[in-house]
Amino acid sequence: KADSALHSAKNSGRNNWCFFHHSMLSNSYEQIILTDALRNAIANNELFLVYQPQFNIDGTQVVGFETLVRWKQTNGEMISPGKFIPLAEQSGLILPIGQWILQQSCKFLKRTNDLGYENIKISVNLSPVQLVDNNIIDSISAVIEETGIRHSQLTIEITETAAIKSLDDSIAKLTQLREKGIRVALDDFGTGYSSLTYLRTLPVNFIKIDKSFIDKISLDSTQSQLVGYIIDMAHTLGTTVIAEGVEDFDQLKELFEYGCDYIQGYVYGKPLSEADALKVLEEFAQIQ
Ligand code: C2E
Ligand code: MG
Ligand code: MG
Ligand code: MG
Repeated sequence: KADSALHSAKNSGRNNWCFFHHSMLSNSYEQIILTDALRNAIANNELFLVYQPQFNIDGTQVVGFETLVRWKQTNGEMISPGKFIPLAEQSGLILPIGQWILQQSCKFLKRTNDLGYENIKISVNLSPVQLVDNNIIDSISAVIEETGIRHSQLTIEITETAAIKSLDDSIAKLTQLREKGIRVALDDFGTGYSSLTYLRTLPVNFIKIDKSFIDKISLDSTQSQLVGYIIDMAHTLGTTVIAEGVEDFDQLKELFEYGCDYIQGYVYGKPLSEADALKVLEEFAQIQ
């Protein structure tokens, strides 16, 4: 009990600081309960996927979707991925969950192929825990082959921080993915080390400029110029640039002027259910 711990800390001497607080207890207790619930989440159909469209800069074409996982507990409560992905990583549950996410994503893409949309891409986030798994390349390949999509239609998103953690292993694995024709995106670019050296050594096709940079782009000219340099640098290295979290037309205008390639954000589209994602494809097909 938090109170008794506090009590004994007080009694053990007046110079003893007590760092223990109920919130720490309830927090870790909540985490234990959540992790336990997560163990059955797939079997109970509590996990589902949403697909956020990615557009070319002028918004005339949907180039693909990013898969984002959602957890709705049986009591109706939504738990954000920012909260449960770390728990899945700590407990190792991210391996079966990540595999399920890949399977569902590729099945969704196969459905779009069957409907005649043959050049749509799917982008799937890969946890650092999945990246260090020695079977990961074979697991990804197996899903592609089982579902019948093309290797070039799948993009694996990894964060810069994850890639750099075990750099040699990451380079080896990303190279293997690339050799199979699978694309690689560096997610949350700008929030990690973001060194030019890393960008040069990591075999990536895309960088995704983090939302925190995009947020200030139309308000802060230094920030804006920085985004311009990132885009130029990425292009010099032969990398395609996606801006994440673009919410308004002022941001869009700046990104357009800097020659950013793709846009993902509420300005063009929020994460959608599978049915709504298919409707968006249908609408865009009619425009063309
Ligand atoms: P991320 O991969 O960088 O995903 C982008 C996040 O930004 C998503 O939040 C998305 O809903 C949100 N977003 C996109 N556009 C906008 C915008 O215009 N405005 C605002 N305010 N937000 C926007 P979400 O879905 O909560 O995911 C958060 C993070 O959780 C992801 O960051 C990723 O790191 C992780 N995550 C989500 N789904 C998966 C998954 O399937 N597997 C793994 N391993 N991680 C995932
Ligand atoms: Mg991502
Ligand atoms: Mg991101
Ligand atoms: Mg993120």
